[in-house]
Amino acid sequence: MKITAVDPFYLRMPNITTAADGTQDTLLVRVRTDIGLEGWGECDASPLVSLTVYCCPMSHGNIINIRTSLIGETLDSLDDVLRLSEKVLRNGLDIQQIEHAYSGAEIALWDVIGQKSEKPVYRLLAELSNTSEMAHPKLPYASVLFGDTPAATYQIAVGLRERGYRAAKFGWGPMGKFGETNDIALVQAAREGMGTDAQIMIDAGVVWGTDHETAYQRAEAFAQFSPTWLEEPLAPDAIDAYGSLTKKNPSVPIAAGEGSNTYRMAEDIIVHGGIQFVQIDAGRIGGIMPSFQVRQLAEEHGTQYVNHTFKSHLSLAAALHVFATNPDFNLLEYPAAGSELSQRLVTEPFPVESDGMVRVKELPGLGVKVNTEAIRPYLSPVQIEVGTEKVFEQPPLA
Ligand SMILES: [Mg+2]
Repeated sequence: MKITAVDPFYLRMPNITTAADGTQDTLLVRVRTDIGLEGWGECDASPLVSLTVYCCPMSHGNIINIRTSLIGETLDSLDDVLRLSEKVLRNGLDIQQIEHAYSGAEIALWDVIGQKSEKPVYRLLAELSNTSEMAHPKLPYASVLFGDTPAATYQIAVGLRERGYRAAKFGWGPMGKFGETNDIALVQAAREGMGTDAQIMIDAGVVWGTDHETAYQRAEAFAQFSPTWLEEPLAPDAIDAYGSLTKKNPSVPIAAGEGSNTYRMAEDIIVHGGIQFVQIDAGRIGGIMPSFQVRQLAEEHGTQYVNHTFKSHLSLAAALHVFATNPDFNLLEYPAAGSELSQRLVTEPFPVESDGMVRVKELPGLGVKVNTEAIRPYLSPVQIEVGTEKVFEQPPLA
C-alpha cells in the first residue's frame, strides 16, 4: 500500500477566547492510501503553526516538510510506521515543532495499519512489545477548568457529581493568582462539590513557574482535602525545581508531563523531576510510539502513567490504546466540558459505561470515526502562498 495523501485540517469555533481551553480549535490530519484505507489523527498543539510543518517549502536538507516525507511512501506494516517516523523526524530535524505536528500523522498511520491488519492499536503495541494483549477498563476523571470563584467551582463540581463522575480534575483559571486563601478555598469547593467519596485532582496550570517553595506550601495546604495529585505546579521544563519539590516528599503526590514535546523531556521529568504521575499527550509528544515508550519507562520507574487529553475523543482513542493493557494505570483523563467542535468530532464518543468505567474499542485501528459532516461548519480553510507558488490549498473534507 502507498500513501497518496497527507491532509491537515484546521477547525475552529467561531470565537476564540483566552481561557485555557484547548478544544476551541484543532488540527486534524488525514492519511489516505491507494487501496482506499484512511486514518485520522489529532494534534494538541498550536494548529496553524503545526499545519505549516506539513507544507513549508524546503529550506535545506534538515527542513523538509511532513508531506514531502510521507507521500508516495510504502505503508504495509508497523515496521513502515516506525521507519517513516524516523524519516519524518530526520527530515525535519531543524523544525522546532516537528514532534507536535507529526503527532497527528503518526496516529493516523497507526489507524491505517490497525485497519489493514484488522486489529486494535493496543493489540499491535502488545505484539510489538511482547506484553499482555488484555485491555483493562479505566476510571474516567472529568477534566474541567476551575470556576472563576470558589462558589462557581462548587457548582461545577456538583454538576459533575450529578452526571455520575466519581473523579474530577479542576485546573487553571484563578488557581495561584489571588493568594493562598483563595487557592485553598478553590480546592475546598471542589472537594465539597464532589463529595468525600470522590477523587479530586488539582491542576495548578504551571502557575508557580520555578518557585518550588510555594508549590510545596500549597501541596501541604491542599492535603487536608486529599487530592489524588497536584498537577503542574511548576513550568514544564523546570526539571530542577521539580526535583527540589519532590525531594521534600510533599503530602500530595506531584503530577506533570503534558508539556513533554519529546520522549526525552518526559524521561527527564520522570528521572530527574521525581514526579509520581506522568501525563503524556500522544497528540503532542510525537504520537503513539513515543507515548508508549514513556509508558514503558514509567513502568520501570514505578511512576504512574496517565494520559493527557484535552481535545476530542479522537485524541482520547489514541491516548487509551497506549496504556489500555496496564491494569495498574487505571485513571483516564476524560474531556468532559469541551467545545461543541470537540464533542461532535467523532461519530461515536467513548461512553462512560454502567460500571462507571471507560473501555478501549475492540475495533480495528483507533476504533473511532471522524464525523466529517458534523465538523464541516467548523472547517476554516487555509491557503498559503509564497511568492507566486501555492504552498498549501485546503483539500476537501470528504
Ligand atoms: Mg494539566
